[in-house]
Amino acid sequence: MSGHQVTVISGATVVTMDQERHEYPVGHVVVDGGRVRSVSPGPYVGTRDDVEVIDATGCVVTPGLVNTHHHLYQWATRGYAVDATLFEWLTELYPIWGNLDEDIIRRAGAAAIGQLARSGCTTVMDHHYVFPRDGGDLLGAEIAAAAEVGVRFFATRGSMDLGESDGGLPPDHVVESIDEILRGTAAAIDRHHDPSPDSLVRVGVAPCSPFSVTADLLREAAALARDRGVRLHTHVAETVDEEDFCRERFGQSPIDYMESLGWLGPDVWFAHGIHFDDNAIRTLARTGTGVAHCPSSNARLGAGICRTRDLLDAGVPVGLGVDGAASNEATSLLEEARHALLFARATGGPTALGVRQALEAATLGGARLLGWDDQIGSLEPGKQADIAVWRTDTMAHAGIADPVAGLVLGTPPPLELSLVAGRPLVRKGRLARVDEATLAAGAAEASTRIEHPPRVLPRV
Ligand code: ZN
Repeated sequence: MSGHQVTVISGATVVTMDQERHEYPVGHVVVDGGRVRSVSPGPYVGTRDDVEVIDATGCVVTPGLVNTHHHLYQWATRGYAVDATLFEWLTELYPIWGNLDEDIIRRAGAAAIGQLARSGCTTVMDHHYVFPRDGGDLLGAEIAAAAEVGVRFFATRGSMDLGESDGGLPPDHVVESIDEILRGTAAAIDRHHDPSPDSLVRVGVAPCSPFSVTADLLREAAALARDRGVRLHTHVAETVDEEDFCRERFGQSPIDYMESLGWLGPDVWFAHGIHFDDNAIRTLARTGTGVAHCPSSNARLGAGICRTRDLLDAGVPVGLGVDGAASNEATSLLEEARHALLFARATGGPTALGVRQALEAATLGGARLLGWDDQIGSLEPGKQADIAVWRTDTMAHAGIADPVAGLVLGTPPPLELSLVAGRPLVRKGRLARVDEATLAAGAAEASTRIEHPPRVLPRV
C-alpha cells in the first residue's frame, strides 16, 4: 500500500469531518500514494486490476484519531499513587522518573504507542520533560519507537529548571539549567523536525508547567520556538494547587502569567485547562490558544472537569489527550471522546457536547492544535491517508441506529484497520508492523528497571 498502488476502502459508513461534515451511510475512500484521492457516496464499482479493494461492509470509516497530550515514558510507571492528588502523585513519581534512560523510554514508549494505536489513534503527540543526567538521547529513542510502531508523531522537547531548592516541585536531579535546555531543544528541532507536507515527525517546544519551570525559561523557550517556526505546549490550569502557586509566587492567575511571558497565540496549546474563569476563556479565544482536554486523567487525579462547552462556544480550539499512562492506565483515545461527552453533559446538561462534536475533538480538533490540519484530521482529497476503519457489525454494535453514536457512546468497536499515510498500522485489532508480545515483554522489563535500576559500581 505504498508508491502508486491504489487502495479503495469500500462499503462502509464514511464520516469525513470535511468542511461540510459529509457523512455517507455507504461510501468509499480511494487512497493513492499515501494520500486520499477521493471520498464518495456509494460502494466502489471500478474493476481495474491495479486497484486493491478492501471490503469494509459493516464498518465505519473515520479520520485517524489525533492525540494532543501524552507522556509516553509513564507507561513504565502505571499503577503508582493511585489514590493521590496531582502534587502527591508527582512527588511520589519524580524520584522514580529520575531513573529514566534511553532503553526504558524506547520500550515503554513502543508499548504506549502501540496501545494508543489500537484505540484508533494514528497521530501520537508526546510531551517529554524528564531529562535525567546521563539519560542519553531520550527524544531520539521515542521517535524511533514511533517509527517502529508506524504512527505519525509530534514530539515535544520538554524541560524543568525549577527544582526543589528553588521552591519548585521536582527534585533537583531531574531539572536542567536553562542553557542545557535551550541547547537540547534547538538540537532536537534541528535533528528531528520535518515541516514538509509528508512529514511523519514534527517537534515542538514544551517546558513542563508553571510550577516546575522558571519565568526566564518560559520566555526564552517561546522565543526559540518562534525563531524556529515550531509550536509551543505546556500544562496550564490543571489543579487549584497550581492556581494557588501562581497567585502566591507571581501574583497572577496562570493565564495572566502565561500571557505576560508571550505564551498565548495560535501556535500555542495548553494541556488540561480546567480552572479557567470567563476572562481566561475570552483571552484564549482572542489569542487563538488551544486546549488539550484530558478527561480521563483529570478524573483519575480528581483535578476537575474542563469547561469544554464554554471553550467551544467562545471559539477556543479544543482537542483531546489521553495524558500519560501514570494518570490514565487505559490510554484509549476513543474513550476520551466518550468521557469528554459524558463529563460535559454531567456538568452542563444534555446539549453540552454532541457525539459528532466529541468525534471532531478527537480528529480535526486535535489536528488543529498540532498545526497539522492542512494534512490530517479529516478525510478529504489531497490529505494524508490517516484512516480508522471500525467494525460495527459485531454483537456490541450491530443494528445501532447511529454509527457515530456507536463509536462515541458505545464500547470501543474492534478496529478492523488503520492506516498512516496509506500504510497499515493496525489490522484486525492487532498492530500490523510489530509483534505485540515483544512490546509487552519490553514494557514489563522497562517497568522493572525504572524502579530498580541496575547499579554498576566502579571497580577498585
Ligand atoms: Zn500531562
